[in-house]
Amino acid sequence: MNAKQSEQLMKLQKIGEIQVKVAPHHSLNHSQGVISESEFQRDLEDDILECLKDQKVIAVRRINIKRNNQNFPTKHVILPFNTPVLPKSVKIAYMNCPVRHFIPNPLRCFKCQRFGHTITACRSKQICARCSLPDHDSNNCSSTTPKCYNCNGDHPAFFRSCRRYKEEKEILTVKITKNISFPEA
Ligand SMILES: [Zn+2]
Ligand SMILES: [Zn+2]
Ligand SMILES: [Zn+2]
Repeated sequence: MNAKQSEQLMKLQKIGEIQVKVAPHHSLNHSQGVISESEFQRDLEDDILECLKDQKVIAVRRINIKRNNQNFPTKHVILPFNTPVLPKSVKIAYMNCPVRHFIPNPLRCFKCQRFGHTITACRSKQICARCSLPDHDSNNCSSTTPKCYNCNGDHPAFFRSCRRYKEEKEILTVKITKNISFPEA
């Protein structure tokens, strides 16, 4: 581990109240980028992949947004690469497209409200996303004041400006841009 990475880790260990244990990850030899070119907004994923498959791109996934139960394609396209270091740009039909790191949103369990796993992997008891009390879900919640299970703030657990949500996002950002794995202690 070099000095710059160590410095990043020292910073990371101070993020909020989350305790993190740091270990270099050797099997991580993929990276995910995103390009945003309106030029190719109407092109099919397969056609774009055809242009990119000899540039270490293994798949092309366009980000769609849902509106009134209909999917609309955006100009944002996720590109998984079979290399740990993300290329600065890719070339599609003579056009140089800058590649940014793709940072997914933090995963929050809909059952126990904790971060880092989904409901199918959940082994904890049910916690209400609105009031943070156990044994009911937010649709059957009779509480009048919201309370976040993760930060105790006066908002439901799915609030995007939650302090803990932002910390989780920050951890994902460091993890992805520094290409190091951070299992939680
Ligand atoms: Zn859970
Ligand atoms: Zn509740
Ligand atoms: Zn919160």
